[in-house]
Amino acid sequence: MMMDPYKIRLDFPILKRKINGKDLVYFDNAATTQKPLRIIEKFTEVYTKYYANIHRGIHTLSQEASDMYEDAHRIVSEHLNANDWREIIFTKNTTESINLVAYSYGINKLKKDDKIIITKMEHHANLVPWQQVARKTGAKIEYIDFNKDYRLDIDQAEKIIDDKTRIVAITHASNVLGTINPIKDIIKIAHEHDAIVLIDAAQSIPHNKIDVKKYDMDFLAFSAHKMMGPDGIGVLYGKEEILEKMDPFLTGGDMIKDVDLYNAEWNDLPWKFEAGTPNIAGGIVFGETIKYIKDIGIENIEEYDRYITKYFIDKYNDYKLDDIMLIGPNDYKERTPTFSFYTKRYRSHQIAKLLDLEGIAVRSGFHCAHPLLKNINILNNNLYNLGGTFRASLYIYNTKEEVDYFFEILKKLLK
Ligand code: PMP
Repeated sequence: MMMDPYKIRLDFPILKRKINGKDLVYFDNAATTQKPLRIIEKFTEVYTKYYANIHRGIHTLSQEASDMYEDAHRIVSEHLNANDWREIIFTKNTTESINLVAYSYGINKLKKDDKIIITKMEHHANLVPWQQVARKTGAKIEYIDFNKDYRLDIDQAEKIIDDKTRIVAITHASNVLGTINPIKDIIKIAHEHDAIVLIDAAQSIPHNKIDVKKYDMDFLAFSAHKMMGPDGIGVLYGKEEILEKMDPFLTGGDMIKDVDLYNAEWNDLPWKFEAGTPNIAGGIVFGETIKYIKDIGIENIEEYDRYITKYFIDKYNDYKLDDIMLIGPNDYKERTPTFSFYTKRYRSHQIAKLLDLEGIAVRSGFHCAHPLLKNINILNNNLYNLGGTFRASLYIYNTKEEVDYFFEILKKLLK
């Protein structure tokens, strides 16, 4: 039986809020998701019963907190089907996870004229760190293009990924277009040339099952806050053999085994990459978040996502909003429920403000993807000058009634 969004909604206290006198319609899930009561209460439980600094104390509280924090790594590892929990590094967010790879792997291992391949649909988090690597090493960045249907050009990818390519870093799902990219094919092509691959899963892991073994992933980066978990906690999955050979990113306490006046010996994985006091409570609560997702069932989330994505696109097509253009695949398969639009009648921020007056939360602007928006500007004249797009991004607690309401309001605004 399909997941029941009305039942799920009961877990999220914030969804009862009124905004400007209207029921809140929270369509800004690609930016961050809301938190169920179970997650909110877990923070209270940790801080009232189990809180102490980890890895440093012999005392009971420190040991309990250490065990719970370590367990959270195991829970994430199971969720990704990793070989070992030591392949799971907790970071601050996706951005830090990608920077870790860029600095510890990229800057140390790349040389002049090596190639870094990324796509033209990256979030700045998977773009600017590679520009830094290129600047510091003399490596070159080349871009995989996308077609008019907003899907990656695999033929072109096959041409530019060659023996000079050392790193391929691509987003699994675009935070603007909603496109889900064929990472399996890209990983295969990259591995044929002995390049390593980093997948930015910030926008896919909330919606899809990801199996790092099945896809033979080298690195995977994501944030807890986009999958109903706490902010300030992110994950870098890395293959053990690659992580073992990498230097640490940040250095200091906790990431060492032994230190003398002029030298230090690194700690075991994953602690080698978790310098200083980490986000202890956030990490433990993230473990609870994965349990919540497991209780719903990731397959059920996938099924509901497909349903609501199809419903949204069908409504858009039914309403015949000629004035409002969808920027992204007009096909519910292989896309997330993240929908970007523009209209020549209003700037994107104006639409977002008008929708807010009706209780609807959407994001507007360039979505930390300036090169993507500039590129689309060429395809769809003047989009960049219209202030980017307004973006409705849905999750498991959004309903078809909310979708109906969104399109009714849009229609009213454009009358
Ligand atoms: N990559 C993608 C595709 C994203 O959508 C985001 C967040 N908008 C990020 C990376 C960065 O995530 P965070 O801000 O949590 O580091």
